[in-house]
Amino acid sequence: MSFLTEQDKRYISGTYARFPVEIERGEGSIAFDTNGKGYIDMGSGIGVNIFGYADKEWQEAVINQLRKIQHTSNLYYTYPDVKLAEMLCNRTGLKKVFFCNSGAEANECAIKAARKYGQAKRGKDCFNIITLFNSFHGRTLTTLAATGQDHYHEQFQPLTPGFLYAHADNFDEMKDLMDNKNVAAVMLECIQGEGGVFPLEKIFLQKVAELAHNRDILLIVDEVQSGNGRTGALYSYMNYEIEPDLVTTAKGLGGGLPIGACMFGDKVETIFSPGDNGSTFGGNPVVCAGAVNILSRITDSLLSEVQKKSEYIFNSFNNSAGIKSVSGMGLMVGIETEKPAIEVVKKCISDGVLCLTAEHNRIRLLPALNIPMNLLSKAIEIIKKNCV
Ligand SMILES: *Cc1c(COP(=O)(O)O)cnc(C)c1O
Repeated sequence: MSFLTEQDKRYISGTYARFPVEIERGEGSIAFDTNGKGYIDMGSGIGVNIFGYADKEWQEAVINQLRKIQHTSNLYYTYPDVKLAEMLCNRTGLKKVFFCNSGAEANECAIKAARKYGQAKRGKDCFNIITLFNSFHGRTLTTLAATGQDHYHEQFQPLTPGFLYAHADNFDEMKDLMDNKNVAAVMLECIQGEGGVFPLEKIFLQKVAELAHNRDILLIVDEVQSGNGRTGALYSYMNYEIEPDLVTTAKGLGGGLPIGACMFGDKVETIFSPGDNGSTFGGNPVVCAGAVNILSRITDSLLSEVQKKSEYIFNSFNNSAGIKSVSGMGLMVGIETEKPAIEVVKKCISDGVLCLTAEHNRIRLLPALNIPMNLLSKAIEIIKKNCV
């Protein structure tokens, strides 16, 4: 065992099952380990580095802001967070933004907003939030409760109460819950990411959105993984032609620095008053200056590039040996393998390709949106070879 690995095991809390790779630096879609070996990165730090490693434009934006001021607290006004919020509102039609530091924190914010709204509209018992089985919404006690996977709940009871679960694409079950319980909100991922990369059926999501609208139940869409161009639309809900009341995002928005955002539609635009929520680092100027650069580059031409690469990936894996199914949208792809997915991922690492896994024995691909075609096709060949 190397010194770094040994020290990590000694000093870092054991929450992560790391692969035996020590990453030192990166360039575009290639990560280099401490021995100088390069890996084509098909995971981009779990969908974070959407323009790859050491992206010059983003670095410039971050460094320029860093030279001005690194942090002021939310007691004062600053420019980068306002600029970023304006861009997000203009491009989504949503009305206001709360900034925080992670996906879980963005979801916590949306859940608080939904509780306050339900209570104000229909009394103190109207606090339930329906989420989907097989979802993933984060690791805090509340977002774990929102996560509809039992194995995450064991050992951490009691979780935050007030969550009900329905099966994806089962509208009758969803309607039953929405009709009979005191429901403040429905919260879902349009494409379940960690749960196996399963897109919801369009008709299901549209019917849920319509019923929620008619019942004055809020629709919260978790775009932490699927957002920021990942699916070939700026946010994945845009592929479904629905209008959520609350949209959360994180991962890719910061291009590699920690950020979370909760966006508020018309109904909840004024839900919060001073003191209702907060975050010391939320809206940090350095992070937001980087995010402004990232968001400004998620253009229509980038999105159509994402769609083309997506088609290429689907065509490459469909009907390929050792592969049972391919699912997903844009550059968020799940590959169901005949072999254990984790074994394929380990072999790919030896061959110089990094990929992720997801529930239900899937390899999960979340490459940088600007991954060059030659690296993409090379990575695909290596993954396919290791699936056989
Ligand atoms: C990663 C993820 C989260 C949690 O985000 P963190 O930044 O790790 O807190 C929440 N929801 C979805 C859909 C995610 O993929």
